[in-house]
Amino acid sequence: ATPAATMVGTSIGAKNGVLFKGGDVLERAKDVDTVVFDKTGTLTEGEMELTDVVPLDGRSTDGGTETAADGGTQAIGGDTEPATDEIDEETVLRAAASAESGSEHPLAQAIVDGAEERGIDLVDPEGFENVPGQGVRATVDGEEVLVGNRTLLREADIDPAPAVETLERLESEGKTAMLVARVPAGTSDGRLLGVVADADTVKESAKEAVAALQDRDVTTRMITGDNERTAEAVAEAVGIDPDNVRAGVLPEDKSDAIDDIQQGVLSSDARQGSGDERSESAGGRRAMMVGDGVNDAPALATAYVGTAIGSGTDVAIEAADVTLMRDDPLDVVKAIRISDGTLRKIK
Ligand code: ADP
Ligand code: MG
Repeated sequence: ATPAATMVGTSIGAKNGVLFKGGDVLERAKDVDTVVFDKTGTLTEGEMELTDVVPLDGRSTDGGTETAADGGTQAIGGDTEPATDEIDEETVLRAAASAESGSEHPLAQAIVDGAEERGIDLVDPEGFENVPGQGVRATVDGEEVLVGNRTLLREADIDPAPAVETLERLESEGKTAMLVARVPAGTSDGRLLGVVADADTVKESAKEAVAALQDRDVTTRMITGDNERTAEAVAEAVGIDPDNVRAGVLPEDKSDAIDDIQQGVLSSDARQGSGDERSESAGGRRAMMVGDGVNDAPALATAYVGTAIGSGTDVAIEAADVTLMRDDPLDVVKAIRISDGTLRKIK
């Protein structure tokens, strides 16, 4: 493009809250054939709310989960053998929220806010540790508390099995369910306390944005550190094919996942490639990664076009080629249209 065309594109972008980092990017965006969305904060509002607190009877390894199966935040069922040290909702929530008060993760904020709304007094955690893509560990009242996913617990030698039924039920509702466990001081005898779940809402325009991209023959994908069940529930809500979802991707692996997509090694791309001369000749895909978090920075840098959305962190914005000032997934479509010139005719 001529310098004048670049200036026009850049300024139309700026007026629409779409910031291109230079003329190169403005040129490239129109050639994107795959858009990979991060889930949390990108397709969803990223404003979680605490929805469920389910205490588990730490003593029972099977059957104990039935008490939770029929009612999220209901009282603990008294129908199984009473344990000597039965755990109640407040115990679970107080431990989880105290540990999470050291974290800035949206999942953590929702747990803390939920506890405060319920009038629970929190303790300042000590020795707080954030385990990216897994959860947190912190010392609360002299005991180590873990809040996070299955991997976090397994790595601490705590078996998540007694909670699995509860987890799966909450996940199939599209919620992010997290395990809460406690390791008493001076022991390595970790004990599962319960499960807490946060729900997020899908952004209003996410479905429209996905549909508009698909109309342009752009393949839409989702990548997330969240679990498969939750991810697929969100994918379904926005119109992304569940086959195009990669869940449980660790922060450091997001960039490799983008590489895989761009090299066309994923099966659904291979299928598409057979009828598509360009991807055959190019040997892969030109992917735009859209993300909001610190986690996403390496993936943004690896993608053909990296796009940071909305309230994105400074790190994400720095790694990105395009920054969308608003929180609106439709601006992804705008960025491509500004690049190919179709938006100029309208504005
Ligand atoms: P996303 O890719 O959706 O932004 P992350 O990579 O930040 O998600 O986290 C992946 C998963 O790790 C979460 O779904 C959750 O199970 C767990 N996790 C991460 N941070 C926390 C936290 N502060 N508390 C509890 N669980 C967490
Ligand atoms: Mg994220």
